[in-house]
Amino acid sequence: MKNIMIAGAGVLGSQIAYQTALSGFNVSVYNHHIDTAERRIKALKSDYERDLHLTDKEFQQGLNNIKVITDDVATAVKDADLMIEALPESLELKEQFYEEVSELAPEKTIFASNSSTFIPSQLAPYTDRPEKFLNMHFANQIWKFNVVEIMGTSQTSPEVIEEATKFAREIKMVPVILNKEQHGYILNSLLIPLLASGLSLWAKGVADPAMIDKDWMISTGAPMGPFGILDMVGLRTAAQIERNAYAQTKDESHKEIADKMEQMIQEGHEGKESGQGFYNYPNPAFMDPDFLKH
Ligand code: NAD
Repeated sequence: MKNIMIAGAGVLGSQIAYQTALSGFNVSVYNHHIDTAERRIKALKSDYERDLHLTDKEFQQGLNNIKVITDDVATAVKDADLMIEALPESLELKEQFYEEVSELAPEKTIFASNSSTFIPSQLAPYTDRPEKFLNMHFANQIWKFNVVEIMGTSQTSPEVIEEATKFAREIKMVPVILNKEQHGYILNSLLIPLLASGLSLWAKGVADPAMIDKDWMISTGAPMGPFGILDMVGLRTAAQIERNAYAQTKDESHKEIADKMEQMIQEGHEGKESGQGFYNYPNPAFMDPDFLKH
């Protein structure tokens, strides 16, 4: 693989585009607003300088490999070996895009979606190449959290999975390959129940967040517990997940948890980003060495 197209240069697409370019591939970016795509990609400079100690020159070398940023799908895909789609999480929008790109892409192009919630067999039917379709799920801040979950359908060819795995390594990701389709992949299949159980213990009044985290951290050796993680994810997202669960199940306990978090949000406790959530930042109690001793 040499030429990689990224569709959608938002939070994740801009990161995938830059990481791929920095690793020496020719990158084309498709985004309906060209200027915001450019701005987002350039804004990664401070992160790469701080976390990976890139010099100005090295960062620029990466930028030089982004050959085109365009609002025209045909231009972006015309010689792509791999197209990674990171468009908004709307099935309707993705359907429209995959139908269009299927007509325009060369036969060789492998299609990969970065979707967090749609499994590949929901998206592959919109394309003309189910054997060349898979999901590649990157984590936010890919230069630091460098895992990519690779998940095909029963129709995806094994060579395509192999090629995607090789590409993931070439852009310095650790590939995690799923043998079967699974909503939430591996990480969220593990994480969401942990967070939901922690929140349920708190809402029922079984113990407070610090006590719950302390038990989890001492017993498993984990560097943080569910409430430390919830602060990192942000309470707005966590409350939304609980509201969605309530809408689906009508289980009142989800509504109760969402309301409790909503009240915290109203009081400015939105999580790590706002300086306070279940803990206060930048020095949350769970990071104090004494936290685990008593
Ligand atoms: P985002 O909203 O930040 O970015 C979407 C980009 O697509 C924007 O730049 C927008 O201008 C552009 N866009 C919107 N409609 C378009 C269209 N019709 N044609 C061309 N460009 C269009 O979204 P995101 O957070 O980067 O998420 C993108 C995908 O990545 C989603 O499928 C999401 O599930 C997945 N994902 C997100 C995260 C995350 O932490 N944000 C993590 C893993 C996976």
